[in-house]
Amino acid sequence: MADHRLVVIGSGLAGLTTALEAARTATALEVLVLEKNPQVGGNSAKASSGINAVNPAGGDSPATYSDDTLQSGGGLSDSRLVERLVVRASAARASAFGASSEDALRFLEALGLDLSVVVQLGGHSVPRTHSNPSGPNVGFALVRAVETAVRQQPNVRIVTNAKVTSAAYSADGRLAVGYTLGLVATKPDSGSGGVGVAPEEVTVLCDGLVLATGGFAASREMLARYRPDVAGLPTTNGPWATGDGVALGGALGARLVQMDQVQVHPTGFVDPGDPDSGTKFLAPEKLRGCGALLLDDSGRRFVDELATRDVVTAAITAQPRHSAWLLLGAQGAARYGEGTLGFYSSKKLVTKVESAEAGAQHMGVDAAVLLQELAAHNTLADAAAAEAEAAAAAAARVGTVDQGGAHPPPRDVTGKRYFHGRVDVNAPVWVARVMPVVHYCMGGIQTRPDAAVLGQDGAPLHRVWAAGEVSGGLHGRNRLGGNSLAECAVFGRVAGRAAAAAIVSSTPVAAGQQVAL
Ligand SMILES: Cc1cc2nc3c(=O)[nH]c(=O)nc-3n(C[C@H](O)[C@H](O)[C@H](O)COP(=O)(O)OP(=O)(O)OC[C@H]3O[C@@H](n4cnc5c(N)ncnc54)[C@H](O)[C@@H]3O)c2cc1C
Repeated sequence: MADHRLVVIGSGLAGLTTALEAARTATALEVLVLEKNPQVGGNSAKASSGINAVNPAGGDSPATYSDDTLQSGGGLSDSRLVERLVVRASAARASAFGASSEDALRFLEALGLDLSVVVQLGGHSVPRTHSNPSGPNVGFALVRAVETAVRQQPNVRIVTNAKVTSAAYSADGRLAVGYTLGLVATKPDSGSGGVGVAPEEVTVLCDGLVLATGGFAASREMLARYRPDVAGLPTTNGPWATGDGVALGGALGARLVQMDQVQVHPTGFVDPGDPDSGTKFLAPEKLRGCGALLLDDSGRRFVDELATRDVVTAAITAQPRHSAWLLLGAQGAARYGEGTLGFYSSKKLVTKVESAEAGAQHMGVDAAVLLQELAAHNTLADAAAAEAEAAAAAAARVGTVDQGGAHPPPRDVTGKRYFHGRVDVNAPVWVARVMPVVHYCMGGIQTRPDAAVLGQDGAPLHRVWAAGEVSGGLHGRNRLGGNSLAECAVFGRVAGRAAAAAIVSSTPVAAGQQVAL
């Protein structure tokens, strides 16, 4: 029986990463992960584009990544959090914090993950979004790898079907966490409520608490309170994303930030069989990162497909039907992975047709207009590819990396700068109807770069940390694609180490005291 206990609420990428890091940091610590679902993973397991990390091979640097993130955040991002996300600490500090996107990528790769596919998503000036070349969607692969490592730690226990309903300080400065166990019948298992078990109220005392409960993009009630204008849109989130951590943190005195900053993702798939469904499959941004185009109802492009999400969302919302067509050519499909496209086809969200002309017929647009539009796009794409090749050759001659830094000038009227391949009009194309969907909460519980939760007075709460989507302030007005999984991995590690160090340190940590790492 361990002397100290850390409770982690939530088992998405943030919670699992926190648990793994804490358990590895202090083997004398018992880590208890409480998850209200029957299975681990949360929205993390649904992620489908990738995880960001500085990509030096593509001309990236911490400064470039930081600039892109801050620019996308529109002046609202907490620059100290951005710095923690992107900046590689010195060797000594890195070992203490386990921070930075590059460290997180290495940490994940060390669990056996192959994250070698790198694409450029909207608002990024270089490719830095990493995903797996084959197998399940990237989020599921990440969750499975971290969960496997967590389950090998003898000092971690994951309890599923355990919905945390209360958190309070006890008289001796510990924390009392109340949860309902066994709400959902599941397989008998030492770590979950079992089949037919009546719900049971449990209270556990702990020496530290990490909130990793995700966002509230599936809570109509919270959306109506904080962003009434988007509360009626469909969501990409699972029904568990109800902002429980906001209430739990609030009960302990946590301060909230930027709760009105809710991201509407431009492209949720419209299911032709159920167009009004309130929950939609996400058409991942990686599709556009692999060259997918957006077309209006006349078959013309109308927006830079790789602008930031807020810009693309506004352009689609301005369309007469508040939706658009997405078209991916054969080259892009090969990059994206035809297996995953096949999954979307099986759900009837994407249709594969034999040529661009057949695509025009499917979309009900004039084939001549579409072919002209694709020809214009291909001319720009070919020019961009030729310039990139020439720049790479020149850079190789002088021994530097060929790209990175500032965004190049726009090449067309939509402002598009980056082109990822052409659309071969005589080869198969993949077509889908897409519309904006509520996707992500950029606001939440305010934290410091060491993941400590801040109270109403701006001082850290005693032994409470937060990681992942439940926390707010990193992304500002607009989250870059790939930055949430990066946040989960980086700040999950930070929270795990900070909590383990504070709890197991021989010197008790006083309320409000910063943990020295
Ligand atoms: C379809 C989709 C695709 C996405 N693709 C990407 C992508 O490619 N790249 C990227 O960076 N981001 C992506 N995102 C966003 C990203 O996946 C999430 O923001 C991120 O994974 C959140 O991780 P988390 O650990 O904070 O929360 P989650 O993964 O949502 O986990 C939170 C967990 O806490 C549990 N929980 C909540 N309340 C309680 C309670 N009271 N008691 C016990 N347990 C509780 C939940 O059940 C859940 O399992 C995507 C999101 C969606 C929905």
